Order: sequence, then C-alpha cells, then structure tokens
Amino acid sequence: MESSQTFQPLDRRKVYEQVAEQLLGQIGGGHLSTGDALPSERELTETFGVGRSSIREALRMLESQGVITSEPGGAFVVAHAANPLNSSLQLVFTLDSEAGLHDLFELRRIIDCEAAALAAIRRTAQHVAEMELSIVEMEQALAADGRDERFIAADLRFHLAVAEATGNRLILYSVQAARDVIRRALLTVVNVPESPESAIVEHRAVREAIAAGNPGAARDAMCTHLDRVERDAGRGATNG
Ligand SMILES: [Zn+2]
Repeated sequence: MESSQTFQPLDRRKVYEQVAEQLLGQIGGGHLSTGDALPSERELTETFGVGRSSIREALRMLESQGVITSEPGGAFVVAHAANPLNSSLQLVFTLDSEAGLHDLFELRRIIDCEAAALAAIRRTAQHVAEMELSIVEMEQALAADGRDERFIAADLRFHLAVAEATGNRLILYSVQAARDVIRRALLTVVNVPESPESAIVEHRAVREAIAAGNPGAARDAMCTHLDRVERDAGRGATNG
C-alpha cells in the first residue's frame, strides 16, 4: 500500500467519527450514564440522517475504546467510566514488552499509597464503614468454599473504598485499572500460605490510620501491605 493512502485530509473526516463524537458528547454531558442503553441502530440512523453502516462503524469504534459494551441481546449500553482507562492500560502493558509485573506493582504503590494518605484527610464516617465492611467480607470469604474469587473481589472493594474516600474520581479509576492488570498475579497470591490472613491484618492497619486521620501512617500502612503482596506474588509465581 502506498503511504499517500495512509492518511486522510482532516476536512474529509469520516461520518462515523462525527457520529461517535456526538454520542460521546451525549455520554460526557450526562445525558447517558453507566448502564443506560443507547438508542437503537434504527433510531440513530434516523436521528443523524446517515447510513446504517456509519452508525455501525461509530458503535464499533466506541466499543473498542471501551466506552460502550454490548449486551447479550445485541444492544449497547454505556460502560463504566473506568473502562476505557482499564482496557488501555491492559493494551499498553501487552504492547510494551519492557514493562514487567514489578513496574505494575510500582505504579500501583504510587497510586494506592498516596490515595491512602489523601483518604486520611478527606474520609467520611461512611467511607470508613465501607472499608470495614470489605474487611469483614474478606474474612467471610476466607472461611467459605471457592474462596479465591470472592476474596479478591472483597480485597478490591477495600482498595476502591480507600480510593473513593479521596474524593478524586480519576484516582478511583486508576486504582481499578492498575489492579485489574495484575489480577492474574493476585490469583496466585491468594494461595500463598498466610497471605490472605496477612492482607486482612494489613487492611485493618490502613483503615485505622485513615479513621484516625493520620495521612503519614495511612501511606506507610498501605505501602507495607503492597510491598508484602508483591513479595508473595513473586513466591506464588515461583511455587507454581
Ligand atoms: Zn489489599
């Protein structure tokens, strides 16, 4: 293929890109929120006065960006706002072969430890209660059968509660994205002896420092927790 065919002049921007941009505007403007269904293909065709193929192309583009997801019936709904960051971090990690698991743990430490410090300053009683609930859920998961998935979900719930307490939604999305990429590593950690028990003790220490309104102690407690998780992830991997 000739290189002159690779780029299109900007004024001949494709119809589907303009449709996608307008739909994005509707979502960003709050006219459509997470879980809301998009208008049907036919409705969109009539609204925009363009061909069905342009509508389909626009929907495909938004889907691949993680903005919308398709439901079993084929309808599209607005995805969670964290979704695009999530899938792009996954993608970047896959593409960049130099970035290893250690880099991801380091990124997670930077985000989560500072989030804990901010949470200690900004938390409400409700945030602290949600942190405690997630810790209780971890304990219950540990005692139940098929504990791994449930334990990991409860563990995530704790970290999201801390992130939520910062009041910064971008921190919340980043915590989720960084964590999702190391999900597979975390599945091995659950089976390292004493690792889940340690997580419960460490989460309690984080929660206490946040409840006490001590940012330094909250940061240290979160970093101690994540350092230990990374060490156990290494052990889990070598133990098979
Ligand atoms: Zn944790």
